[in-house]
Amino acid sequence: MEKVRGQLKWIFQTKNEVLLQASVGSGAMESAIVNCFSAGDKVIAVKSGKFGERWADQAKAYGLQVLDLDVPWGEAVKVDDVENLLAANKDIKGVLCQACETSTGVYHPVEDLGKLVAKYSGCILLIDAITALGITEIKTDQWNLDVVITGSQKALMLPPGLSMISFSEKAMKHSLVAKLPRYYFDVKESLKAQGKNQTFFTPAISLIQGLRVSLGLMEEETLPKLFARHRKLAGATRAGVKAMGLELFSQSPSDSITAVVAPSELDGEKIVKHLQDKYNFTIIGGQDHLKGKIFRLGHMGYCGDFDVLGMIAALEMTLKDLGFKNELGQGVAAATKVLHGH
Ligand SMILES: *Cc1c(COP(=O)(O)O)cnc(C)c1O
Repeated sequence: MEKVRGQLKWIFQTKNEVLLQASVGSGAMESAIVNCFSAGDKVIAVKSGKFGERWADQAKAYGLQVLDLDVPWGEAVKVDDVENLLAANKDIKGVLCQACETSTGVYHPVEDLGKLVAKYSGCILLIDAITALGITEIKTDQWNLDVVITGSQKALMLPPGLSMISFSEKAMKHSLVAKLPRYYFDVKESLKAQGKNQTFFTPAISLIQGLRVSLGLMEEETLPKLFARHRKLAGATRAGVKAMGLELFSQSPSDSITAVVAPSELDGEKIVKHLQDKYNFTIIGGQDHLKGKIFRLGHMGYCGDFDVLGMIAALEMTLKDLGFKNELGQGVAAATKVLHGH
C-alpha cells in the first residue's frame, strides 16, 4: 500500500492522497458526486457522449440540479460555453467532464477548463480521466483539477474492479459541507484508513498488487516517454486509417482511442465482427445512435508499434473482404512512416 500510494501520486501528478476504491470506474464517478455535493446543488454536466451522459444521470439520480451542456458527439466542449453558463449561474457548485470521451474518441480541453473553474471559488472541476490518465498529460495539481478519477482496466492495464480518485483541497472543502448520504464511498473514512496503509473495507489485494507492477512499468518508461508512445501510436493509427480512404469521427482526437467513420456502404458492426472472427483483432463499435456508423480502435496501455501495424493491416484486409475499394498496404505504409519517424 505504501508503495502504491506513492506511485499513484506520481501518475496523478498530485501531492494529495489518491484514494483506492474497490469498484469499477462508474463507482468512482458516483463517489465523486456523493462526496462533493448536496441534493439540489447545481452542476454543469458536459454531455458529449455516452460517459458524459452517465455522469449527468448519476448526478440527477442523487437529486442534483444538472445543467446539461450538450455537445455534438465527435466534438470537444467549447470552454466559452462553460464560461457563459458559469457567468449566468453564480451558484454552480461543480463542472463534470471527461478528459477523453471514450465513446467518441474526443479529447476535451482539460487544462483550459481548469484555468476557468479555478476563478470560481465556490465551484470545483471534476474530471473523469479514465481513458486519459497514464496516456496523456494530466497535471492534476498544476491544472487545478479538483477531482480526478480513473479505473484499473484502461491505461493501467489491469482487470476491472479497482478505481482511483483524487481530491484537491478545494474539493475537500466541498466534502465537509456536502450532505449527500455516503458510507461505502466516504472519502473521510477512506483517507483515515489509507493514511495507515490500510483500506476502509477489504482491499482488492490482487488488483492492488497488480497496480504496483503496472505502475512500476510506467515508472520505468517515465512519463514523457509514456505520453510520447501513446502520441505516436495514435498518430500512426490516424495516418493509417486516413490513407485507406477513411475519415476520423472526432474533431479533437484523443491519444487513447481512435474513432473512425465506417464507409457509408458498410455496416460498422460487420467490420468489428469480421476483424474479430477472421483476424482475431478486437476493436469496438459505436454506441447508441453511432451503432454501425463508427468503429473504434484502441491504442492505450500495453500496446506497441506492431500491435498498431497489425491492427491497421487487419483492418485493410477486412475492408477489402467486405467489398470496400481500398488498395492493400496503403494504411500500413502510412502508419509505418509515423512509427519509424522518418
Ligand atoms: C470505461 C469508462 C468509464 C466506465 O468505467 P467502468 O469501469 O465500466 O464503470 C467511464 N468513463 C470513461 C471515460 C470510460 O472510458
